[in-house]
Amino acid sequence: MNQNNNFKCHIWFTEYHNNNVALSVRVKDILYMDKSEFQEIEIIDTYDFGKVLILDNTFQTTERDEFIYHELISHVPLFTHPNPKEVLVIGGGDGGTVREVVKHKSVETVDFVELDGKVIEACKKYMPKLSCEIDNEKVNLIITDGIRYVAETDKKYDVIIVDCPDPVGPAKGLFEKEFYKNVFKCLKDDGIMVQQSESPLYNLDLIQNICRYLKDAGFKIIMPYTYPMPTYPSGFWSFTLASKKYNPLETDEERIKEALKDMETKYYDEEVHKGVFLASPKFLKEAVKKA
Ligand code: SAM
Repeated sequence: MNQNNNFKCHIWFTEYHNNNVALSVRVKDILYMDKSEFQEIEIIDTYDFGKVLILDNTFQTTERDEFIYHELISHVPLFTHPNPKEVLVIGGGDGGTVREVVKHKSVETVDFVELDGKVIEACKKYMPKLSCEIDNEKVNLIITDGIRYVAETDKKYDVIIVDCPDPVGPAKGLFEKEFYKNVFKCLKDDGIMVQQSESPLYNLDLIQNICRYLKDAGFKIIMPYTYPMPTYPSGFWSFTLASKKYNPLETDEERIKEALKDMETKYYDEEVHKGVFLASPKFLKEAVKKA
């Protein structure tokens, strides 16, 4: 019998990155567990990272570090575009990206295409800090496969944001050649897309493939950018921006500064907007050049 009165049962969630590396967080409570037709869905409450969404045993988002990811996937493309009105978000069922997108006054409509209605419902109930704008009147929620959506729709967008999980299962096709061609087709002549593009440290080949496919699809400007992401494998993550016309390094900083007076952000500002590209590591720039 344990004689120590301070003894507590320790429950941990562990995501195994490979056979040798894993990340664990100590669990306070298990809030939700279910299986949809696409994936296993869990929401847990943790001691240090707040509520955490887990799909198929993989960290998707945590209350503690989500702002880094959601601000950078949204504000970088939306400020690179001078007047984004029509936006498409693919994936992102937790709602964090949509929450950031609707902060932009110019945005009139957000088509939000998520595969799994169960993720939306679970996050609406247990993660309101992220899902709080899913019912915003500008947001048009469409429960379907994003790959099929861009292949079939005739709509044209100013900005398309692909907030997807790892390239496995139903998300695999979101990293394939055909998908990028359809995204190019669904953008206006000055449109911009951005995609979650995994770890530069672990997935450099994948980032090179994405850049090659985006170039083949017809994009003129293709620029990955990196940032710290404590709960994703390697702690170091990337997005890849592809643009038909506008270069994020030419964005007017004063315009961002002015808009941010009425927009709350914790990570993103006019210096970060260019800084994420200017601080791109040498090995990544070299890999992109070879793509
Ligand atoms: N930030 C996260 C990351 O990098 O892991 C992504 C989070 S978000 C929860 C990913 C969402 O993409 C999930 O809700 C999943 O259901 C959705 N998804 C996966 N494949 C999809 C597809 N083909 N079309 C639309 N949504 C998809």
